Amino acid sequence: IKKVYLENLNKTFVTTANDQVVAVNNINLKIEPGEFVTMLGPSGCGKTTTLRMIAGFEMPTHGNVFIGEENVATKTPDKRDTAMVFQNYALFPHMNVFDNISYGLKIQKRPKAEIKERVERILKMMKMEDFSQRVPAQMSGGQQQRVSLARALVMEPGVLLFDEPLSNLDAKLRIHMRDEIRKIQQKVGITSIYVTHDQEEAMALSDRVVIMNAGIIEQEGTPQEIYQRPVNEFVANFIGRANILDGEIVGIDEGEVIVNIHGVGFTVKVYKKFDVGQRVRVVIRPEGVLVGKKDFTVKVDKSVFMGQNHEYGVDFFGSNLEISENNPTGKTIYKIGQQMGIGFDQQALHIL
Ligand code: ADP
Ligand code: MG
Repeated sequence: IKKVYLENLNKTFVTTANDQVVAVNNINLKIEPGEFVTMLGPSGCGKTTTLRMIAGFEMPTHGNVFIGEENVATKTPDKRDTAMVFQNYALFPHMNVFDNISYGLKIQKRPKAEIKERVERILKMMKMEDFSQRVPAQMSGGQQQRVSLARALVMEPGVLLFDEPLSNLDAKLRIHMRDEIRKIQQKVGITSIYVTHDQEEAMALSDRVVIMNAGIIEQEGTPQEIYQRPVNEFVANFIGRANILDGEIVGIDEGEVIVNIHGVGFTVKVYKKFDVGQRVRVVIRPEGVLVGKKDFTVKVDKSVFMGQNHEYGVDFFGSNLEISENNPTGKTIYKIGQQMGIGFDQQALHIL
């Protein structure tokens, strides 16, 4: 169980047309021993390249990768004490489950009895004892992915790396497997770095989420911090749904400001310095908009019953505002074209 430290890490690819592509742009990141950290960002933002530099499949253009106390930036993958779980499972098709899982231990020339004991222990933990003689083609995607996780775990690496391991599975199995990964990770306590473009997966799994965009880190924090206090519009829009409103600071108090949003003042907690008169952007999540208040009167453009929530879209001073009303049973349902009174939960307002 090791810590990981990425120092000023950069990967610049040179294409055949001699163009430079900065895939990872000088990132710095510290991961504590036993921590589960997810790197989350849109396709092409540099997640896989970062993970491959940690694993040693890709050499940095410059910068360092520390695993434990050791700088491994120029070491080959087998010298790094990492194991990786891939999106496409990457199992050997002609080998059965037992042989797939034991492969790395055989390469390390471990004694036969030890290999048997370790593989059987992992199979038991993964509830896969009955599958040990099957080949990959005789298993479902979820079962194959479990074997691929077992193959990584059996090595007892200092750091476990995951590159979108669940994206080939259907929605239901994906949720089941992510809960299972989290459970196993907590049981073994292994440092884990998980790459995904799925924000729900990131929030469900992680101690800490790192938001990446175009080769840089936009923000890192617990799922709650990222959701409740995004640092910019990119993060606000990437994690969950966000309404972003124009406001103006009209008063300042200790740790709080009064922000005027279309003529109504709201008292909002702040985490950085603002000046009176400053124009700002204010984030409010759909569930932070309160139906039935009298701060604003708006016209309903969308009204959809979703079971747990009722989803509205309303015209708010010429822009669309999304509202999610929890536990709609027994409450007034507004139809498209109707007028509705709304307000904002002051605690849910966040100023960028
Ligand atoms: P992600 O995993 O977040 O989708 P990647 O790390 O795979 O992103 O890619 C980041 C950027 O680097 C992309 O613009 C991609 O096209 C580019 N890239 C990745 N690998 C190579 C390569 N071998 N040669 C040139 N460009 C690459
Ligand atoms: Mg990728």
